[in-house]
Amino acid sequence: NTAIHLQNRPTGRPDLSDFKFVEEEKPTPGEGEILLETKYISVDPYLRGRMVDAKSYIPPFELNKPITSGIIAEVKESKHPDFKAGDFVNGMLAWKEFQVSDGKGLTKVDPDQAPLSAYLGILGMTGLTAYFGLTDIGKPKAGETILVTGAAGAVGSVVGQLGKIFECKVVGIAGSDDKIDLITSDFGFDAGINYKTTDDMKAAVEEACPDGIDVFFDNVGGSIFDAVMANTNRGARVVLCGAIADYNKTETPTGPRVNTTLIKNSILMQGFTVGNYQSEFQKGIQKLAGWLKDDKLNYEETIVEGFKNTPQAFLDLFDGKNTGKMVVKI
Ligand code: NDP
Repeated sequence: NTAIHLQNRPTGRPDLSDFKFVEEEKPTPGEGEILLETKYISVDPYLRGRMVDAKSYIPPFELNKPITSGIIAEVKESKHPDFKAGDFVNGMLAWKEFQVSDGKGLTKVDPDQAPLSAYLGILGMTGLTAYFGLTDIGKPKAGETILVTGAAGAVGSVVGQLGKIFECKVVGIAGSDDKIDLITSDFGFDAGINYKTTDDMKAAVEEACPDGIDVFFDNVGGSIFDAVMANTNRGARVVLCGAIADYNKTETPTGPRVNTTLIKNSILMQGFTVGNYQSEFQKGIQKLAGWLKDDKLNYEETIVEGFKNTPQAFLDLFDGKNTGKMVVKI
């Protein structure tokens, strides 16, 4: 039974030496416990923040202890009245092949309703992030222009498609021509910009959004954020979801100050974490599942095979190697 521990707190970009594989005995469940076998592991950009020993909305990982993230596991043995062998559960669990749990915080998932991995993406944390961030903060109205960064990723690809469901014009920014093809064909975006091959991002955004931007859903931060902000309309809503371009920075980033833009254009800018909407998760999942069933929503996954490849799959997020949700299949 292998576990993956955090070995070092990375400075700058993490690498494989920050993780350690540790062999331990396969545990046995006690009374009121279940034995779980890991099936799918979600690797997410926010895990980088938990590697830093700093106060945040979620506690940091401890050194020499297993990393935790969203995991789908199968119940192999149960001494718990609410679970039986063969059930599948979703929860914040440790990066271990096998572990025991008292069942707290676990939700059962049905493999007949959707593929198991979907509960980590489109019907899980990233789908809900897109849905609540866009609807509650972005508040898009038909005919408005939405710009989303990280547009081919797990959150961004859903934001763009929801924007089309809400009858908006949607423009996405992503890091390769293949990703731009994907968002404009499979996901129905109206236009896309490859930030890696575009020199003047401010001009490119202006050209792609001739009516300006009413909702800016930002997943990346950094200089792309500045270029988009320069094109926002009066009364725009700016949804601060993520800032992956800044997660590995060793110094606090600086850039153009946007406060005069916000004041002059009466712009609302708000950050959020998806956990704010916990009490409404079931409602959000039902909405997303309904659109999926009606073929209004489509999703991509990048599935990496093998428990031992989990750290590399996480690192690959920072190189944009995924389209849609990055998941490890055990
Ligand atoms: P993604 O599936 O979008 O994967 C990350 C993507 O980020 C990569 O594929 C890559 O795509 C892009 N990227 C990596 N480095 C950079 C960079 N330096 N500049 C610009 N783009 C970069 O991940 P998620 O959908 O899971 O998360 C997207 C964002 O949303 C993250 O910032 C994450 O932290 C945040 N988030 C926030 C939540 C909340 O509750 N607020 C919840 C979930 C996620 P490319 O090829 O286009 O560069």
